[in-house]
Amino acid sequence: MPERARILQVGTLGDETDATLQAQYDVLRLWETPGGLDALAERTAGITAVVTSVRHGCRADLIARLPDLRAICSWGVGYETIDVAAAHARGIAVSNTPEVLDDCVADLAWALLLAAARRTSVADRYVKTGQWRSIGAFPLSTRVSGKRMGILGLGRIGEAIARRGSGFGMEIGYHNRRARAGVPYRYVESLVELARWSDFLVVACEGGPATRHLVSAEVLDALGPRGIVVNIARGSVIDEAAMVRALAEGRLGGAGLDVLEHEPAVPPELLGMDQVALTPHVGSATHETRREMAQLVLDNLASFLAGRGLLTLVAA
Ligand code: NAP
Repeated sequence: MPERARILQVGTLGDETDATLQAQYDVLRLWETPGGLDALAERTAGITAVVTSVRHGCRADLIARLPDLRAICSWGVGYETIDVAAAHARGIAVSNTPEVLDDCVADLAWALLLAAARRTSVADRYVKTGQWRSIGAFPLSTRVSGKRMGILGLGRIGEAIARRGSGFGMEIGYHNRRARAGVPYRYVESLVELARWSDFLVVACEGGPATRHLVSAEVLDALGPRGIVVNIARGSVIDEAAMVRALAEGRLGGAGLDVLEHEPAVPPELLGMDQVALTPHVGSATHETRREMAQLVLDNLASFLAGRGLLTLVAA
Protein backbone atom coordinates (compact mmCIF):
# COMPACT_ATOMS: atom_id res chain seq x y z
CA MET A 1 0.00 0.00 0.00
CA PRO A 2 1.42 3.46 -0.91
CA GLU A 3 2.31 5.64 2.06
CA ARG A 4 -0.50 8.02 3.02
CA ALA A 5 0.18 11.76 2.74
CA ARG A 6 0.87 13.50 6.04
CA ILE A 7 -1.27 16.52 6.76
CA LEU A 8 -1.78 18.77 9.75
CA GLN A 9 -5.36 19.74 10.64
CA VAL A 10 -5.59 22.84 12.83
CA GLY A 11 -9.17 22.42 14.10
CA THR A 12 -12.25 20.35 13.52
CA LEU A 13 -14.28 20.80 10.32
CA GLY A 14 -17.14 18.68 11.66
CA ASP A 15 -17.30 14.96 12.37
CA GLU A 16 -17.97 13.88 8.81
CA THR A 17 -15.14 15.84 7.18
CA ASP A 18 -12.73 14.98 10.01
CA ALA A 19 -13.51 11.29 9.48
CA THR A 20 -13.04 11.55 5.70
CA LEU A 21 -9.66 13.20 6.20
CA GLN A 22 -8.57 10.53 8.66
CA ALA A 23 -9.66 7.72 6.34
CA GLN A 24 -7.62 9.10 3.47
CA TYR A 25 -4.55 10.69 5.04
CA ASP A 26 -2.14 10.47 7.94
CA VAL A 27 -3.64 13.36 9.93
CA LEU A 28 -1.94 15.16 12.80
CA ARG A 29 -4.77 16.85 14.73
CA LEU A 30 -3.37 19.99 16.27
CA TRP A 31 -6.41 20.73 18.44
CA GLU A 32 -6.13 17.31 20.08
CA THR A 33 -2.37 17.49 20.57
CA PRO A 34 -1.57 18.19 24.24
CA GLY A 35 0.80 21.14 24.36
CA GLY A 36 -0.27 22.26 20.87
CA LEU A 37 2.32 23.74 18.58
CA ASP A 38 5.13 23.50 21.14
CA ALA A 39 4.63 19.76 21.45
CA LEU A 40 4.96 19.11 17.73
CA ALA A 41 8.77 19.30 17.65
CA GLU A 42 10.09 16.58 15.29
CA ARG A 43 6.65 15.34 14.24
CA THR A 44 6.31 17.99 11.56
CA ALA A 45 8.73 16.56 8.98
CA GLY A 46 6.97 15.42 5.81
CA ILE A 47 3.83 17.47 6.41
CA THR A 48 3.15 19.12 3.05
CA ALA A 49 -0.38 20.40 3.62
CA VAL A 50 -2.34 22.13 6.38
CA VAL A 51 -6.12 21.89 6.56
CA THR A 52 -7.80 24.68 8.47
CA SER A 53 -10.70 27.14 8.42
CA VAL A 54 -11.11 30.89 8.65
CA ARG A 55 -12.12 30.32 12.29
CA HIS A 56 -9.08 28.21 13.22
CA GLY A 57 -6.64 30.20 11.04
CA CYS A 58 -2.99 29.50 10.27
CA ARG A 59 -0.52 31.90 11.81
CA ALA A 60 3.04 32.64 10.77
CA ASP A 61 4.44 30.73 13.80
CA LEU A 62 2.68 27.54 12.68
CA ILE A 63 3.86 27.99 9.10
CA ALA A 64 7.42 28.49 10.40
CA ARG A 65 7.30 25.12 12.22
CA LEU A 66 6.46 23.19 9.07
CA PRO A 67 9.59 22.99 6.89
CA ASP A 68 8.02 20.86 4.15
CA LEU A 69 4.72 22.79 3.94
CA ARG A 70 3.56 23.53 0.38
CA ALA A 71 -0.22 24.14 0.68
CA ILE A 72 -2.81 25.51 3.11
CA CYS A 73 -6.39 24.43 2.38
CA SER A 74 -8.88 26.54 4.26
CA TRP A 75 -12.62 26.25 4.80
CA GLY A 76 -14.47 29.56 4.33
CA VAL A 77 -14.06 32.35 1.80
CA GLY A 78 -12.54 34.87 4.24
CA TYR A 79 -8.88 34.29 5.10
CA GLU A 80 -7.99 37.18 7.41
CA THR A 81 -6.86 34.69 10.09
CA ILE A 82 -4.37 33.02 7.74
CA ASP A 83 -0.98 34.67 7.31
CA VAL A 84 -1.13 34.60 3.53
CA ALA A 85 1.89 36.90 3.21
CA ALA A 86 4.05 34.54 5.31
CA ALA A 87 2.84 31.58 3.26
CA HIS A 88 3.43 33.20 -0.10
CA ALA A 89 6.89 34.39 1.00
CA ARG A 90 7.83 30.71 1.24
CA GLY A 91 6.02 29.70 -1.97
CA ILE A 92 3.21 27.99 -0.02
CA ALA A 93 -0.11 28.11 -1.90
CA VAL A 94 -3.36 28.93 -0.05
CA SER A 95 -6.91 27.96 -1.01
CA ASN A 96 -10.30 29.08 0.33
CA THR A 97 -13.89 28.08 -0.56
CA PRO A 98 -15.38 30.87 -2.70
CA GLU A 99 -18.59 30.86 -4.76
CA VAL A 100 -20.30 27.81 -3.22
CA LEU A 101 -21.59 30.00 -0.37
CA ASP A 102 -22.59 33.11 -2.34
CA ASP A 103 -26.30 32.32 -2.60
CA CYS A 104 -26.83 31.37 1.03
CA VAL A 105 -24.96 34.41 2.38
CA ALA A 106 -26.91 36.66 0.00
CA ASP A 107 -30.17 35.03 1.10
CA LEU A 108 -29.29 35.75 4.74
CA ALA A 109 -28.46 39.39 3.97
CA TRP A 110 -31.97 39.66 2.59
CA ALA A 111 -33.48 37.88 5.57
CA LEU A 112 -31.79 40.41 7.88
CA LEU A 113 -32.79 43.37 5.76
CA LEU A 114 -36.40 42.25 5.71
CA ALA A 115 -36.31 41.46 9.42
CA ALA A 116 -34.90 44.89 10.30
CA ALA A 117 -37.19 46.85 7.95
CA ARG A 118 -40.42 44.85 8.28
CA ARG A 119 -39.72 43.81 11.92
CA THR A 120 -40.55 40.19 11.16
CA SER A 121 -38.78 38.79 14.27
CA VAL A 122 -40.53 41.31 16.51
CA ALA A 123 -43.87 40.57 14.82
CA ASP A 124 -43.28 36.83 15.31
CA ARG A 125 -42.81 37.39 19.06
CA TYR A 126 -45.88 39.65 19.07
CA VAL A 127 -48.04 36.84 17.77
CA LYS A 128 -46.44 34.08 19.86
CA THR A 129 -46.76 36.02 23.13
CA GLY A 130 -50.43 36.77 22.58
CA GLN A 131 -50.00 40.52 22.04
CA TRP A 132 -51.92 40.45 18.75
CA ARG A 133 -54.97 39.46 20.74
CA SER A 134 -54.26 41.54 23.88
CA ILE A 135 -52.94 44.76 22.28
CA GLY A 136 -54.20 44.63 18.71
CA ALA A 137 -52.62 45.79 15.45
CA PHE A 138 -48.82 45.71 15.14
CA PRO A 139 -47.01 49.05 14.54
CA LEU A 140 -46.23 50.08 10.96
CA SER A 141 -42.81 49.26 9.54
CA THR A 142 -40.64 50.32 6.57
CA ARG A 143 -41.17 49.44 2.88
CA VAL A 144 -38.34 47.54 1.24
CA SER A 145 -39.33 47.19 -2.43
CA GLY A 146 -38.42 50.00 -4.80
CA LYS A 147 -35.88 51.57 -2.43
CA ARG A 148 -32.15 52.26 -2.90
CA MET A 149 -29.62 49.68 -1.81
CA GLY A 150 -25.94 50.56 -1.43
CA ILE A 151 -23.47 47.68 -1.31
CA LEU A 152 -20.04 48.06 0.26
CA GLY A 153 -18.03 45.36 -1.53
CA LEU A 154 -19.58 44.33 -4.82
CA GLY A 155 -17.69 41.04 -5.07
CA ARG A 156 -19.11 37.54 -5.47
CA ILE A 157 -21.50 37.79 -2.49
CA GLY A 158 -22.24 41.48 -3.06
CA GLU A 159 -23.30 40.72 -6.61
CA ALA A 160 -25.60 37.90 -5.46
CA ILE A 161 -27.19 40.39 -3.03
CA ALA A 162 -27.55 42.96 -5.82
CA ARG A 163 -29.21 40.45 -8.17
CA ARG A 164 -31.85 39.77 -5.53
CA GLY A 165 -32.35 43.54 -5.15
CA SER A 166 -33.34 43.78 -8.80
CA GLY A 167 -36.18 41.37 -8.01
CA PHE A 168 -37.35 43.83 -5.35
CA GLY A 169 -37.36 46.66 -7.93
CA MET A 170 -34.47 48.41 -6.22
CA GLU A 171 -31.92 50.88 -7.49
CA ILE A 172 -28.50 49.48 -6.66
CA GLY A 173 -25.28 51.41 -5.99
CA TYR A 174 -21.93 50.14 -4.73
CA HIS A 175 -18.55 51.15 -3.42
CA ASN A 176 -15.38 49.16 -4.01
CA ARG A 177 -11.82 50.46 -4.19
CA ARG A 178 -12.22 50.26 -7.95
CA ALA A 179 -15.29 50.50 -10.20
CA ARG A 180 -16.17 47.20 -11.89
CA ALA A 181 -16.55 46.97 -15.63
CA GLY A 182 -19.67 45.32 -17.01
CA VAL A 183 -21.98 45.60 -13.99
CA PRO A 184 -25.26 47.50 -14.34
CA TYR A 185 -25.03 49.19 -10.93
CA ARG A 186 -24.09 52.75 -10.01
CA TYR A 187 -20.49 53.09 -8.74
CA VAL A 188 -20.01 55.63 -5.96
CA GLU A 189 -16.42 56.58 -5.29
CA SER A 190 -17.02 57.74 -1.71
CA LEU A 191 -18.52 55.43 0.90
CA VAL A 192 -20.03 58.42 2.75
CA GLU A 193 -21.76 59.50 -0.46
CA LEU A 194 -23.01 55.95 -1.07
CA ALA A 195 -24.46 55.90 2.47
CA ARG A 196 -26.12 59.28 1.93
CA TRP A 197 -27.72 57.99 -1.31
CA SER A 198 -28.84 54.65 0.19
CA ASP A 199 -31.93 53.61 2.11
CA PHE A 200 -30.16 50.35 2.99
CA LEU A 201 -26.39 49.91 3.21
CA VAL A 202 -25.25 46.29 2.96
CA VAL A 203 -21.71 45.45 4.03
CA ALA A 204 -20.21 42.62 1.93
CA CYS A 205 -16.50 43.44 1.64
CA GLU A 206 -13.68 41.40 3.14
CA GLY A 207 -12.61 41.72 6.78
CA GLY A 208 -9.11 42.25 8.22
CA PRO A 209 -7.11 45.36 9.09
CA ALA A 210 -7.58 47.06 5.68
CA THR A 211 -11.35 47.36 6.11
CA ARG A 212 -11.50 47.89 9.89
CA HIS A 213 -14.14 50.50 10.82
CA LEU A 214 -14.68 51.50 7.17
CA VAL A 215 -18.29 51.99 8.23
CA SER A 216 -17.47 54.86 10.58
CA ALA A 217 -19.63 57.23 12.61
CA GLU A 218 -19.59 59.58 9.61
CA VAL A 219 -20.84 56.86 7.26
CA LEU A 220 -23.61 55.88 9.70
CA ASP A 221 -24.69 59.51 10.10
CA ALA A 222 -24.84 59.80 6.30
CA LEU A 223 -27.11 56.74 6.20
CA GLY A 224 -29.30 58.54 8.69
CA PRO A 225 -32.30 58.04 10.97
CA ARG A 226 -34.32 56.20 8.33
CA GLY A 227 -31.41 54.16 7.00
CA ILE A 228 -30.70 50.53 7.81
CA VAL A 229 -27.26 48.93 7.82
CA VAL A 230 -26.90 45.19 7.14
CA ASN A 231 -23.63 43.37 7.81
CA ILE A 232 -22.91 39.85 6.58
CA ALA A 233 -19.17 40.49 6.10
CA ARG A 234 -17.17 40.85 9.30
CA GLY A 235 -18.00 42.68 12.53
CA SER A 236 -14.70 44.57 12.30
CA VAL A 237 -15.85 46.51 9.22
CA ILE A 238 -18.35 48.57 11.27
CA ASP A 239 -17.32 50.84 14.15
CA GLU A 240 -19.63 48.95 16.49
CA ALA A 241 -19.53 51.43 19.39
CA ALA A 242 -20.45 54.25 17.00
CA MET A 243 -23.26 52.12 15.52
CA VAL A 244 -24.71 51.31 18.96
CA ARG A 245 -24.66 55.03 19.89
CA ALA A 246 -26.28 56.03 16.58
CA LEU A 247 -29.03 53.42 17.03
CA ALA A 248 -29.64 54.40 20.67
CA GLU A 249 -29.86 58.10 19.77
CA GLY A 250 -32.11 57.51 16.75
CA ARG A 251 -29.49 58.81 14.30
CA LEU A 252 -29.52 55.41 12.54
CA GLY A 253 -32.81 53.73 11.68
CA GLY A 254 -31.95 50.08 12.15
CA ALA A 255 -29.50 47.24 11.65
CA GLY A 256 -29.44 43.62 10.52
CA LEU A 257 -26.28 41.94 11.76
CA ASP A 258 -24.96 38.42 11.18
CA VAL A 259 -21.50 39.35 12.46
CA LEU A 260 -20.29 41.42 15.41
CA GLU A 261 -16.98 43.00 16.23
CA HIS A 262 -16.26 40.86 19.31
CA GLU A 263 -18.55 37.91 18.56
CA PRO A 264 -19.99 35.96 20.20
CA ALA A 265 -20.13 38.93 22.61
CA VAL A 266 -23.15 41.13 21.88
CA PRO A 267 -23.30 44.77 23.01
CA PRO A 268 -26.07 44.59 25.65
CA GLU A 269 -27.81 47.70 24.25
CA LEU A 270 -28.61 45.80 21.03
CA LEU A 271 -30.56 43.13 22.89
CA GLY A 272 -33.41 45.48 23.72
CA MET A 273 -33.65 47.16 20.31
CA ASP A 274 -36.60 46.19 18.11
CA GLN A 275 -34.98 48.02 15.19
CA VAL A 276 -32.08 45.54 15.25
CA ALA A 277 -32.22 41.99 13.85
CA LEU A 278 -29.43 39.63 14.87
CA THR A 279 -28.22 36.23 13.68
CA PRO A 280 -25.24 34.29 15.12
CA HIS A 281 -22.83 34.30 12.11
CA VAL A 282 -24.83 31.83 10.07
CA GLY A 283 -24.44 33.29 6.57
CA SER A 284 -23.26 30.03 5.00
CA ALA A 285 -24.81 27.73 7.60
CA THR A 286 -27.14 25.53 5.57
CA HIS A 287 -26.74 21.77 5.16
CA GLU A 288 -26.29 22.16 1.42
CA THR A 289 -23.69 24.94 1.45
CA ARG A 290 -21.68 23.54 4.35
CA ARG A 291 -21.48 20.22 2.49
CA GLU A 292 -20.20 21.98 -0.62
CA MET A 293 -17.66 24.00 1.37
CA ALA A 294 -16.29 20.85 3.02
CA GLN A 295 -16.13 19.08 -0.34
CA LEU A 296 -14.21 21.98 -1.83
CA VAL A 297 -11.61 21.74 0.94
CA LEU A 298 -11.25 18.00 0.24
CA ASP A 299 -11.07 18.61 -3.53
CA ASN A 300 -8.39 21.28 -3.10
CA LEU A 301 -6.34 18.96 -0.91
CA ALA A 302 -6.70 15.98 -3.27
CA SER A 303 -5.79 18.10 -6.30
CA PHE A 304 -2.70 19.48 -4.55
CA LEU A 305 -1.54 16.03 -3.38
CA ALA A 306 -2.06 14.64 -6.89
CA GLY A 307 0.35 17.29 -8.20
CA ARG A 308 -2.33 19.31 -9.98
CA GLY A 309 -2.21 22.32 -7.64
CA LEU A 310 -4.95 23.97 -5.62
CA LEU A 311 -8.27 24.63 -7.36
CA THR A 312 -9.40 27.85 -5.67
CA LEU A 313 -6.22 29.77 -4.99
CA VAL A 314 -6.09 32.87 -2.80
CA ALA A 315 -4.27 35.45 -4.95
CA ALA A 316 -0.88 36.77 -3.83
P1 NAP B 1 -14.90 39.01 -2.88
O1 NAP B 1 -15.53 38.41 -4.11
O2 NAP B 1 -13.41 39.06 -2.77
O3 NAP B 1 -15.49 40.50 -2.73
C1 NAP B 1 -15.00 41.41 -1.81
C2 NAP B 1 -15.32 42.81 -2.32
O4 NAP B 1 -14.91 43.77 -1.35
C3 NAP B 1 -14.63 43.17 -3.62
O5 NAP B 1 -15.58 43.66 -4.54
C4 NAP B 1 -13.63 44.26 -3.24
O6 NAP B 1 -13.49 45.19 -4.32
C5 NAP B 1 -14.31 44.88 -2.02
N1 NAP B 1 -13.33 45.48 -1.12
C6 NAP B 1 -12.26 44.88 -0.55
N2 NAP B 1 -11.58 45.76 0.21
C7 NAP B 1 -12.26 46.94 0.11
C8 NAP B 1 -12.06 48.23 0.66
N3 NAP B 1 -11.01 48.50 1.43
N4 NAP B 1 -12.96 49.20 0.36
C9 NAP B 1 -14.02 48.94 -0.43
N5 NAP B 1 -14.25 47.73 -0.98
C10 NAP B 1 -13.38 46.76 -0.71
O7 NAP B 1 -15.39 38.28 -1.58
P2 NAP B 1 -16.76 37.47 -1.34
O8 NAP B 1 -16.56 36.05 -1.71
O9 NAP B 1 -17.88 38.24 -1.94
O10 NAP B 1 -16.82 37.52 0.27
C11 NAP B 1 -16.89 38.77 0.94
C12 NAP B 1 -16.72 38.60 2.43
O11 NAP B 1 -17.93 38.08 2.99
C13 NAP B 1 -15.67 37.59 2.88
O12 NAP B 1 -14.36 38.15 2.86
C14 NAP B 1 -16.10 37.24 4.29
O13 NAP B 1 -15.48 38.07 5.23
C15 NAP B 1 -17.60 37.53 4.27
N6 NAP B 1 -18.40 36.29 4.46
C16 NAP B 1 -19.25 36.20 5.52
C17 NAP B 1 -20.00 35.05 5.72
C18 NAP B 1 -20.97 34.92 6.87
O14 NAP B 1 -21.22 33.79 7.32
N7 NAP B 1 -21.56 35.99 7.35
C19 NAP B 1 -19.87 33.98 4.84
C20 NAP B 1 -19.00 34.09 3.77
C21 NAP B 1 -18.27 35.27 3.59
P3 NAP B 1 -12.08 45.97 -4.56
O15 NAP B 1 -11.01 44.94 -4.52
O16 NAP B 1 -12.25 46.63 -5.91
O17 NAP B 1 -12.00 46.97 -3.47
